[in-house]
Amino acid sequence: QLDETWLARIATADDIVAPVGTPFVVARNVQKSYGDRQVLAGIDLTVNRGECVVILGPSGSGKSTFLRMINHLEGLDWGEIRVDGQTVGYDYAGGRPKAVAGLAGAKARARIGMVFQSFNLFGHLTALENVVEAPVRVHGTSPADAEKLGQELLASVGLGNHTAHLPHRLSGGQQQRVAIARALAIKPRLMLFDEPTSALDPELVGEVLTVMRRLAAAGMTMVVVTHEIRFARDVADRVIFMDEGNIVEQGPPEQVIDAPQHERTRRFLRMVG
Ligand code: ADP
Ligand code: MG
Repeated sequence: QLDETWLARIATADDIVAPVGTPFVVARNVQKSYGDRQVLAGIDLTVNRGECVVILGPSGSGKSTFLRMINHLEGLDWGEIRVDGQTVGYDYAGGRPKAVAGLAGAKARARIGMVFQSFNLFGHLTALENVVEAPVRVHGTSPADAEKLGQELLASVGLGNHTAHLPHRLSGGQQQRVAIARALAIKPRLMLFDEPTSALDPELVGEVLTVMRRLAAAGMTMVVVTHEIRFARDVADRVIFMDEGNIVEQGPPEQVIDAPQHERTRRFLRMVG
């Protein structure tokens, strides 16, 4: 049983600066190369607070790189990303690159939750211990408070009866729900999902998408990379199609998915659909 009020309480944390519906993640002319290979060719993207944006695109188009940049896990070669007004990486606003202090980056990252394709749980820790680890170690929450939070969070993703289980005793879908609960335990201002259901058996995909769907409905700001076209159509406020480091087109799902303007988008949708 998912607890809607709990998810909503996290999604509407009152220490977020941007009002709902105003720019929350702002990327301007973001460029990145690895050696000779240009991976991001100048990405401009704004995600408003409370919005769920789904990024579609073929493998190698730069989706993961872009998500990692939003989460300060990857540097920018050029351009700028702001999250709730805080600059990530280098600030070129004045024409001259100005490095943003490491601490600012670490502090901002501490309020961004990320969920990966491979669940990345600590194998020797129980579901509950996985969830309380960051609040206790990084955020200084008392173990008792963190445990209460962890219990509530696991219950809210439907795992109230599995708190004492080690990851290997859980199905892939259950492990991914623990990973989502763990990301939520830091009370994130933003959730990033990088192909969260790609490693799951088909019958387990739905339970993870259901949690994500409820999170979006609760008002969480989300950027989701996925090939689940039906999820994009039902849940996304906006769909972005990326190819070769560019945003080829973007718009509401009924436009990008049902009436794509570009041949590359059509080809991709035929492939995954
Ligand atoms: P996607 O998530 O859309 O599949 P990625 O962002 O993972 O794309 O990768 C985009 C391109 O960048 C790929 O060609 C990939 O091989 C390359 N790439 C990603 N990370 C690195 C890295 N750390 N070093 C070198 N090349 C990389
Ligand atoms: Mg990827």
